[in-house]
Amino acid sequence: MKKRAVILLSGGLDSVTALAIAKSEGYDCYSISFDYGQRHKTELLAAEHLAHETGVVSHKVIQIDLRSIGGSALTDDIDVPETEQQGIPITYVPARNTIFLSIALGWAEVINAEAIFVGVNAVDYSGYPDCRPEFIDAFEKLANLATKSAVEGSAIYIRAPLMNLSKSEIVKQGTALGIDYSETISCYQADAQGRACGQCDSCRFRRQGFLDANLMDPTRYQ
Ligand code: ZN
Repeated sequence: MKKRAVILLSGGLDSVTALAIAKSEGYDCYSISFDYGQRHKTELLAAEHLAHETGVVSHKVIQIDLRSIGGSALTDDIDVPETEQQGIPITYVPARNTIFLSIALGWAEVINAEAIFVGVNAVDYSGYPDCRPEFIDAFEKLANLATKSAVEGSAIYIRAPLMNLSKSEIVKQGTALGIDYSETISCYQADAQGRACGQCDSCRFRRQGFLDANLMDPTRYQ
């Protein structure tokens, strides 16, 4: 049997690259997206499309309404900032990666996956605490304490292959793996057609990544 991996797939540039890397390493890929009440819901359509393009075995969308907690510009009535912020910006979604990885871990255990891939990055990023290597290491420890499969001898690995790459290195690697980035949506406030604002943090990192990589930016802007 081929080894299996669960991939957290948001439909953005990073997670799609993480999926392509998992695939290139020979994993049977099972992608998972979250309909969590985000403003940029069009990313879910992008995720589904890209999952099927990449040839995943299965793609799952989990409904979990984080608007009932709120506390983020992505899930509450707070404007998405269009200038650089000091500290951890208001687009941080409380405990998001902990919640998403926990659900992915459950699925990984059910299908006997040996790895969970997540496209977090600690170089060109907004300083979210749940995107740091310390967090990933800690969650991996938790995963191996918390599951029946791990206790019975099947270790689970949390893989963050983009962690130490710059945005330009990420787009270069993904382009080499054949990703069509025009299909990905990174913008925090993409419109109903999936067109990016060009102003938010996520748009700025992405645009600079293509620029630094000397690659044409295929993003569809409003
Ligand atoms: Zn944007």
